[in-house]
Amino acid sequence: MTRITRRKFITDVGLTTLAIPVLSSFSDCNNPSEEKDQNHIMKQKKDGKLGIALVGLGGYAGGQLAPALQQTEHCYLAGIVTGTPSKIEQWKSKYTIPDANVYNYQNFDSIKDNKDIDIVYVVLPNSMHAEYVIRAAQAGKHVICEKPMAMNVKECDDMIAACKKAGKMLSIGYRLHFEPYNLEMARLGTKKIYGNIKKMSAGFGFPARDPNQWRLNKALSGGGPLVDVGVYCIQGFCYTTGLNPIAVTAKEGPKTDPDKFKNVEESLTWQMEMPGGIICEGKSSYAENLNFLKADAEKGTFQLTSAYGYGGQAGNTPEGPMNFPRVNQQAKQMDDFAQAIKNNRSTPVPGEMGKRDVRIIEAIYEAMNTGKRVTI
Ligand code: NAD
Repeated sequence: MTRITRRKFITDVGLTTLAIPVLSSFSDCNNPSEEKDQNHIMKQKKDGKLGIALVGLGGYAGGQLAPALQQTEHCYLAGIVTGTPSKIEQWKSKYTIPDANVYNYQNFDSIKDNKDIDIVYVVLPNSMHAEYVIRAAQAGKHVICEKPMAMNVKECDDMIAACKKAGKMLSIGYRLHFEPYNLEMARLGTKKIYGNIKKMSAGFGFPARDPNQWRLNKALSGGGPLVDVGVYCIQGFCYTTGLNPIAVTAKEGPKTDPDKFKNVEESLTWQMEMPGGIICEGKSSYAENLNFLKADAEKGTFQLTSAYGYGGQAGNTPEGPMNFPRVNQQAKQMDDFAQAIKNNRSTPVPGEMGKRDVRIIEAIYEAMNTGKRVTI
């Protein structure tokens, strides 16, 4: 994760409006590096790939998505949108991006005139998802939005409506729908390979060390580990059972570091009641490492003992260990979306699924705050 102080970020944004015109004025078609960048774009287009612009060049965009876009077959990294001018040169030269495909947050809307960009991928702090998804749709682009989809259900509705109005597709960055071990959990559960599931449990957590990160600022994150990593457990419960919850209860964990966790929870446990009486027990934490998804069914237990990482999944069933190849989840996720657009079919991870999860998150926080069972 990239650590950016708020002060540095504000300073950088202050330079943005100055830096872009200066950069653009140096670009002309006799510039060999610019010609190389343009040729690269032409080649990708000729190969039938859709162009993706990443919005927000932080840890996930730089560490996972941009490298994955070097492995995709149906889409490629065509542009960047950033509020930090100092990142531009490195991204341009590393990923062969022409000046014309570099935007900042102020001139972002003019991306509507850019034929190289088919898809905008929003990888910003959670509080900024709604604004940039809506602006992208209004600019006539298909959109991928990172999880959690938004701060609340109302924002999700607005995002879905904006994409619908523009006639553009919206998907959520739920990469595990393209990961073989998690797909196997869904297959075993929904096909009832070991009979009906009786109960499930899941946990995802890691120690959040930097006290200044946006994840600990509720105005930017919308909540603590539940919205950040607990959402993977919610997802796991839903795709393994093939069901949506009807009610939740929840309890906040103790704050061992109240200064650090001023306005978000440090940890949380919750229960989701599925139709048919299946109880799913989840835990999300910014204090401890957790990473599992477990289903107890009539004929035995199947589980992932390492469930949610970018790789390193491990799991077992009553018949022995699972054994699947490692895939690049993000490459598969983005390629699937590009194919969905090209073939005019739906995505398995639509905005409506992101909204369902935000609704569950809202219910869990309500249950945590009131101590009551909250129906969904
Ligand atoms: P990050 O802090 O590393 O990057 C955030 C980016 O947003 C930075 O480039 C930063 O400059 C920019 N930014 C713009 N306005 C900002 C502001 N007011 N405060 C702070 N940063 C601001 O975060 P990240 O880990 O890349 O997460 C970005 C999004 O991606 C989040 O929604 C997160 O939940 C999601 N994410 C998803 C996965 C996944 O596996 N699907 C993994 C990590 C992050």
